[in-house]
Order: sequence, then C-alpha cells, then structure tokens
Amino acid sequence: MSTPTSADVVVIGSGICGALAACRLAQQGLSVLILEAGPRIDRGRIVAAFRNSTRRGDWMSPYPFSPWAPQPEYKPRDNGYLVQAGPYPYPAEYIRVVGGTTWHWAAQAWRLVPNDVRIKSLYDVGVDWPITYDELDAWYQEAEEILGVAGADNTGSPRKHPFPMQPVAEPWSMRRFRERLAPAYAVVANTVARNSRSYDGRPACVGNNSCQPICPVNAQYLGINAVDSAEAAGAKVVPNAVVYRIEADAKGRIAAVHYYDPDKQSHRVTGKEFILAANGIESPKLLLLSATDKYPNGLANRSGMVGRNLMDHPSSSLTFYADEELWLGRGPQSPSSINTMRDGAFRAQHAAYRLDFTNISQVNAVTEDLIREGVYGPAFKQQLRWRAARQCNVKNVLEVLPHPENRITLSSEKDALGIPKPEAHYSIDEYTRRGADVSHNDFAKIAQLMGGTGLRYSLDGQFANNQHITGTLGMGNDPTKFVTDGFGRSHDHENLFCCGTGVMPTAATMNSTLTAVALALRTVEHMHPRQATTKESVARAAAETSA
Ligand SMILES: Cc1cc2nc3c(=O)[nH]c(=O)nc-3n(C[C@H](O)[C@H](O)[C@H](O)COP(=O)(O)OP(=O)(O)OC[C@H]3O[C@@H](n4cnc5c(N)ncnc54)[C@H](O)[C@@H]3O)c2cc1C
Ligand code: SF4
Repeated sequence: MSTPTSADVVVIGSGICGALAACRLAQQGLSVLILEAGPRIDRGRIVAAFRNSTRRGDWMSPYPFSPWAPQPEYKPRDNGYLVQAGPYPYPAEYIRVVGGTTWHWAAQAWRLVPNDVRIKSLYDVGVDWPITYDELDAWYQEAEEILGVAGADNTGSPRKHPFPMQPVAEPWSMRRFRERLAPAYAVVANTVARNSRSYDGRPACVGNNSCQPICPVNAQYLGINAVDSAEAAGAKVVPNAVVYRIEADAKGRIAAVHYYDPDKQSHRVTGKEFILAANGIESPKLLLLSATDKYPNGLANRSGMVGRNLMDHPSSSLTFYADEELWLGRGPQSPSSINTMRDGAFRAQHAAYRLDFTNISQVNAVTEDLIREGVYGPAFKQQLRWRAARQCNVKNVLEVLPHPENRITLSSEKDALGIPKPEAHYSIDEYTRRGADVSHNDFAKIAQLMGGTGLRYSLDGQFANNQHITGTLGMGNDPTKFVTDGFGRSHDHENLFCCGTGVMPTAATMNSTLTAVALALRTVEHMHPRQATTKESVARAAAETSA
C-alpha cells in the first residue's frame, strides 16, 4: 500500500497529545495522517529489554535509539543530542517512537488549581492564561475519562463530576507516611492515569513497580493507547517520518510539510489543517527550522516567542532511613504526595510546590551505595536488608516562572540527517530557589516525624529535572507576545494548531500532561465542533460562547 501524501488534517507527532487530537478528528470522519519521526515498538520487547538491562535505573535504556530520530540520552554517557547552552543544565528526556514519551511516564495526571491560571493578576508574577479554570473543567473531565484517571476527592482542584475511578490501593509505605505525618501534613493519593479497576479494556494495576520505564500489563494509559484508538477511527500513521520543514503559502496558510525517511529521501505531504504535536522541544525546533525569506525568524514567530519561556518543575530532595521497615517497591512507583503548598499569598514571594514521595524499590540504589562504600560479604547482606527496608525519599516539585531568555534554539550542531539539534538555554531564578529553601523546612519536619537518620539532601543548589517541558509555544491573546491563541491556533497561520505541554503559558506545580491533553481536546473541538447532542457538550458549548 502506498504512503498517503495528503489528508484533511496532518498531525506531526504521535505522542499522547497528537494521537488523541488525531483520534477525535478521525472519529468525525476527517481523513487524518500522523507523521511520526520514530519507529513502532512492541511492549513485550520493551519489557524483555528492561528485564535484561544492566541499567534498570535508566528508564531510557529499554527503548530503541534511531539515528534518524535521535532522542536525548544521558547514560552511560550524554549523547549530546539536546545541546546545553547553560548556564543551568536542562536535561530533558523524551522518546521518539510511535506513541511518544508517555511510554515511560509515571502517569501522574493532575489538574491545576484555579489560581494557577491567574498568577499575574493575583500575585504579580508570571502571566495569566487566556482561559479560566472553569472553562477547563469539562475538558479535564473528558481527558480523565479517556485516560482512565483514578483519584481521591481531596486533591485541591475543584471538579463538577467524580473521577472515573477510585484511587489505586495505597502501598504500605505510603500508609505509614500518611499515618505518621498526620499531625503536620495531609498525605494524599496521587491522581493518576492508572487503573484501580479494569477500565476501557485495560486491566487494573497489579503493583509490580516498573511503571517507569514500562508497565508490562497496560494498566497505565499511554500515548500508544491513543494511537491504537486513532487508527481504529481511521487515522493513518506513517512511522519513521522525520518532519524537517513546514511550508507556508503566499497567504500565510500552511500548505505542506516535508519529511525525511531514514534514507534521507524527502517527501511532501499536503493538508487543509496541520497540528504540531512533536513535544515542547521538537515543536518549536520545527517552527524555527522552517524559516524562509518571508519568515526569517521561523514560522508562527511574529512575537519572537517561539521556543522561549522554557519551563519544567525542578526538584531537590531528601533521602533518609526511617525508624521502621517501609520496604518501598510494593505498588506503583509514584503513589502519594502533600499538596497544601500549591497555592497561597506566598506566591508573590516564592515558588509554590508540592511534595512527592517515591515508592521505587531501594534495592538497586542501596546496592550501588554499598559497592561504592566497599562493603562486602555478610556485612553487605545485612546492610542491604537494613537499608533497603528503611530508605525513603521525598522531593519537592517546584513552580518556575516563564522567562524569555530560557529557551530552545537551533544549535550549530547537526544530527545524522543533517537537521540542527535543539539547544537549551536555561537558568533557575531566585523565586524558585526561595521556594526550595522553604520546602527544606518541610523535609526536616518529615524526617523528624519518621524518626529519620542518615539524612542526605540533594546537593546544595542542585535541582533534578522532572521532564515537564512547558512554555515554548505559549498561549495568550496578544499576538505580539504569544505564539498561539487561547485555542492553540498559531496567531500567524490560521490553519496551524499546536497541541502539547508547550502551549501552557505557566507551569504551576503539577505534572503537565493532563492539562496538555485537556487543551488538545479543546483545540480539536474548536477546529471541528462535534454535534452538541449530549448534556455535557451543550453545557461546554455554552461555556465557550459566554467566555
Ligand atoms: C521519565 C518521565 C516521567 C514522566 N512522568 C510524567 C507524569 O507522571 N505525569 C505527567 O504529566 N507527565 C510526565 N512526563 C512527561 C510526559 O511524558 C509528557 O508531558 C508527554 O509525553 C507529552 O506528550 P506530547 O504528546 O506532547 O509529546 P511526546 O509524548 O514527547 O510525543 C511527541 C511525539 O512527536 C514525535 N516527533 C518529534 N519530532 C518529530 C518530527 N520532527 N517529526 C515527526 N514526529 C516527531 C516524537 O517522536 C514523539 O512520538 C514524564 C516524562 C518522563 C520522561
Ligand atoms: S505498579 Fe505495575 S501494574 Fe501498576 S502501573 Fe506500575 S507497572 Fe503497571
């Protein structure tokens, strides 16, 4: 069968956002073509690769690397794909395969809190969103129903309808945190796209603790589930199709995209509408790559903001030994958190944050520590058992503000196809650092309540990255300041829409994918409204009209 070269809608990227957008449009009878840079992969092979890996702590290790669709990798050494211009590293991880990066996500699927979209008005920091939380509510609900989100009532994010599912069973370690921290903190179940019961043909979580890098039983919703639904609805996927240029016509409409196959043969695909969903780094890269004489700064870049306001959620952390056996590693990896610092007047002074407890088995980490310390023989066995049973970790998940100088640009270095690599320019400001300092008081209190010994803070001033690539295609009403409008449509090209975490104008404190999916569903509804036959869609249409 020949590869299609035209469609009503061409989608660039088959991650969770692109695939769900494609699915929704294909369900409406439109012809939809998804161009995906990476290959198709098979869950069974990834599970086997993980089991056989000597680097199980490296969640990228089971995933194939394709020279034509490189992805950033850091172990055993940095492959240099995402060039770091500094001054602070931005070591983003993503997977370029059919289904995208959620193959190895932790499935935390939180809503924002209402004030997150008004921080400029309320606290005079960051920017306001062009939409309200109330407008997002119905799209969150729809996203949660598609993904199968399990959650508790006490998340701090208002909702009009219940979660599709009750929370996943609480692991023992998290129960003990909840009970022992109760005098000072409310430890709640994380809201997750992970089944607590059979849902939509996928089984309930069985608690085997390999959510990252791969859930063997399909209990977490992944981008590949969205791809399957899109294909079932009639969308066509072209794997190994590396888009390298988007072409605008004389009137400024997008006319076509160009992609390379792995042999560097070029192909041109036309369409009536285009959705850019290649993630918060590759999408702005593509717009910048598409510069012409008429658009010397790249497409969709009248504002000069393409690639700017790069954000994530930096984390520092505390590791310690509790005074009782917790045996992390039973149940999902990321089950519980403390969410009371997500909002408040303090946001005028310092970053909001939440506190997240890991439930990842500590056996690997402790083994590495003991080998490094030169412990052998019976002492090794005794220490391994003692430490792995008690070692635990809490991290902060910090808000960062949008700064134009934090950005993705095109590097002078090229990949194997001769395409410029993305280059990250990043720093962490005092606002976020002050938030980290405040959260360290919580760390100390938590350790004290858990009878903690052997306290080890992550290195002073050092932050880990949480892989929530936000802000590079920010939405806002002013075309001179924002890349996309409130519906994700490019201000400069009327048939170009952006889906993904990049359109979020601020990062708040919650993992960003659920919000990006909700926004993507709203974008495609704006492109092609469904028949308003259900009570829900009538209410949604009314809310959009009155907004
Ligand atoms: C270890 C880890 C854990 C995470 N845990 C969470 C979590 O618990 N909760 C949460 O909310 N988020 C989490 N994330 C982030 C989450 O994975 C992303 O937010 C999400 O995948 C973004 O979806 P997307 O569709 O925008 O992009 P992606 O999933 O990255 O998909 C983009 C797709 O576009 C394709 N593409 C790229 N360039 C091109 C091109 N030139 N031509 C054609 N196709 C292209 C890519 O190959 C990819 O398939 C985690 C990320 C990591 C790495
Ligand atoms: S704990 Fe196991 S079954 Fe549950 S989501 Fe994680 S990997 Fe899948």
